[in-house]
Amino acid sequence: MTNMASMYCVKCKAKKEISDSDLTKTTVGKANRSALKGKCPDCGTTVFKFIKG
Ligand SMILES: [Zn+2]
Repeated sequence: MTNMASMYCVKCKAKKEISDSDLTKTTVGKANRSALKGKCPDCGTTVFKFIKG
C-alpha cells in the first residue's frame, strides 16, 4: 500500500496528492525543521510539507 501526502503546490495553487515513494525527508531553515520534499506531478515544482519530529 502506498501512502499519499497532501502537499500544496504554489505554482498550481492547489493541493496535490504525492505518493510517499516520491517524497524525501529533509530539514529546512536555521531551526532545522523536518519537512518532506516532493515534486508536483503536474508542473514539476518542488513542494514542501512540514512534519513533526
Ligand atoms: Zn504544480
